[in-house]
Amino acid sequence: MAITEITSIPKTELHMHLDGSIPIDVTWELMKRYDLSPCETLDEIETLLTMQQEDEASLLNYLDKFHYPLWITQFYENIQLVTRKILEGVARHNVTLVEIRYSPIVHTYAGLTVRQAIGAVLSGMNWAVETHGIQAGLVIIAMRQHGPHIAKILARQAIAEGQQFHERCGVVGFDIAGAERGNPPILFREAFGLARKGGLGLTVHAGEDEGPHLIWEAIDDLGAERIGHGCSAITDKELMNRLARDQILVECCVTSNYQTGAVRRGDRHPIYAFLEAGIPVAICVDNATVSRTDISRESAIVAEEVGLDLVAHIHSAAKKHSFIATGTGRYQRGACP
Ligand SMILES: [Zn+2]
Repeated sequence: MAITEITSIPKTELHMHLDGSIPIDVTWELMKRYDLSPCETLDEIETLLTMQQEDEASLLNYLDKFHYPLWITQFYENIQLVTRKILEGVARHNVTLVEIRYSPIVHTYAGLTVRQAIGAVLSGMNWAVETHGIQAGLVIIAMRQHGPHIAKILARQAIAEGQQFHERCGVVGFDIAGAERGNPPILFREAFGLARKGGLGLTVHAGEDEGPHLIWEAIDDLGAERIGHGCSAITDKELMNRLARDQILVECCVTSNYQTGAVRRGDRHPIYAFLEAGIPVAICVDNATVSRTDISRESAIVAEEVGLDLVAHIHSAAKKHSFIATGTGRYQRGACP
């Protein structure tokens, strides 16, 4: 399959982390500018920022790669710049709609407020939208390990930067991420209640390193409209039926799922079972840099199994599940909370 064929398909990217998708040369240049680089060469920094063949497939090894980007994404201009560079890269793959996700609180160590950390991404997005004509929105992540109280604070800040208050890009959704074990979705019920009342779309990282019971919680207790990864759903027939019945979209990140061990190497990726069960799916990168991938590559992997036409259909159908108010999808520009 020619890569140009894949690249030319209009694409929808619904699950892409800012911190894990910064182009390596951009991180390298910023580290050198601030005299922060932990190593001597671009090759060395690449090893620190990306999963290596020899890295054991585990979520903790994967999350370890997010350490260094945080050194340079503590300043407004840098956050703005990396957002622009990420979206430039996305536009090269003919992505027409992209949701970037990000936890602003881990970008406040140098004194930015949470609102400024959000505003820096929105500003970078506005530039990219004007330059490349794509649609973009921000999903705010509460890290599970920070607990339910911080999540509520973030939900309120996210609502205050909601898309309905912006002429251009705004916050469109709310999410939780980080190690699932010990931090079940139910702990975050109040934060998600706030986010829902504030008009944000709800997605939850669930079923990546834990069983289907946490996907049930994400749906029943948090009201998730989309699930990030959701790999363990294939072990629960009733849950598969529920996802199909309620048309809850699963954001599938194939390469990442093998690297974190969410799917064992050699096993068939659950995206194909989701498709067969009538569950809406999106093809997403998760972290372009950490996973050494891009949306065309992820689309090509899926197209090998289901063909190019179905991949094109998946991308166009996923648009309806975006939290960005487009005037045509599920999400219209909401009322004030
Ligand atoms: Zn993710």
